[in-house]
Amino acid sequence: MELKRNQRKPLAGMTLYELREVTAKLGMPKFTATQLAQWIYGKRVSTFDEMLNISKSNRELLAAEYVVGLKAPAEAHRSEDGTVKYLFDVGDGKAVESVYIPDEDRATLCISSQKGCRMNCYFCMTGRQGFHGNLTANEIINQVLSVPDSESLTNVVFMGMGEPLDNLDEVMKVIEILTESWGLAWSPKRITVSTVGKKPELKTLVEKTSVHIAVSVHNAVHEERQSLMPLEKIYQIKDVMEMLSHYDFAHQRRLSVEYIMWNWFNDDISHAEALREILPDEHVRVNLIRYHMIPDTPKLRTSSDERMAHFRDYLNGKGITCTIRRSRGEDISAACGMLAGKVKNEEKKAEAKKAPHAKK
Ligand code: SF4
Repeated sequence: MELKRNQRKPLAGMTLYELREVTAKLGMPKFTATQLAQWIYGKRVSTFDEMLNISKSNRELLAAEYVVGLKAPAEAHRSEDGTVKYLFDVGDGKAVESVYIPDEDRATLCISSQKGCRMNCYFCMTGRQGFHGNLTANEIINQVLSVPDSESLTNVVFMGMGEPLDNLDEVMKVIEILTESWGLAWSPKRITVSTVGKKPELKTLVEKTSVHIAVSVHNAVHEERQSLMPLEKIYQIKDVMEMLSHYDFAHQRRLSVEYIMWNWFNDDISHAEALREILPDEHVRVNLIRYHMIPDTPKLRTSSDERMAHFRDYLNGKGITCTIRRSRGEDISAACGMLAGKVKNEEKKAEAKKAPHAKK
C-alpha cells in the first residue's frame, strides 16, 4: 500500500549508513545510497525525478516510501545591513529561525536546533517561549541546504534557537553530514557549536568532533550567573571551563567565550577579572556582545560603549584576545537573544519573571 505523502520519511538528514539501510531494504545496490547523498547534499535537489543516474524504477520505489525532504523557508526578512532572517515551518503551527550573515569574505548561517528552548535564560526570547521539542537532523540540515545562498555559505554556527547540546544526537548527525566526503565535505573549522555549558554533552562533542566551540558565559560570578542562566545551578561555568582546559584549543581548533554586556550587571573590572580567572588559557577568544532589549527585562540594559571598551582593554592587557562584536540584523529581530520563531495559537505573553540580581 502506498504511503500518504506526509507519512513518507525524509532522506535529507540521513547519514550514508542510514541511506544504505534504505537502499538495502528496497533491494537496491549499495552505490545507490552514495548517489542519493550526492544528489541531496551535493546538488541539493528536492525531487527524485531530478536524480537522473538512478533508474526510473528505483526512483519510483523510493518515492513510494520516502521524500527527499528539503523545504524552502516560509518567510524571509532582510535587514538593511544585508542580514536575512529565514523562518522555517516545522509543523504543528511552529516555526524556527535561521539567520544569514554576509560579511566581507564570509557568509555565515546561524541555525536553530530546537523548537524553543528549555534552558530558560532570562535574557533570551527563545527561552521565553518554552520548549516545544527537538528538531530532527532533517529539520536542522534543511536550514543549511534550503536557504537561497546555500551554496555560497562559508560557515555554519549552531547559535540560533535552542541549546544544541540538549539535542546532541541530531546535532552530531548534522555535523557528520556537513563534514564527511559523501556529505558537504566541509572542514570542521567552518562549524561552531555554541552552548550554555551542558558539561557531559560538551565533553562528548569535544572528543568526537573537531568543530569550534563557543561557550556562552555572560557572567563568571556563580551567584550572578545562576540568576540569569538556570543551568549554572547544575553545571557551574568554572567547572565547564576547567573541563575544557584538558583539550587542545591552541592550534586548529578554536574555543571562544560569548559575553553579552549589561550595564552595571556584569561589566565592571571585577567581572573581567572573574572571567579571566576561569579561562583555560590565553588562547580563548572573548567576544563581547551588545544586549538587545527584550520585553519584561527592565533591569537589563546594554553596557555603554565606554564600559565595553574598558572591559575589552582590561582583558587585552592581560594577553587575552577580546573584541566587541558588531551587532547584525537588529532591525529584523535577528540579533543575539532575539530569535523567537512563531508559535501559532500560543501567543500568550511570557509571564513577567522575577528580575535577576543586579548591582544597580
Ligand atoms: S540563550 Fe540559548 S540556551 Fe539560553 S534560552 Fe536562549 S536559546 Fe536557550
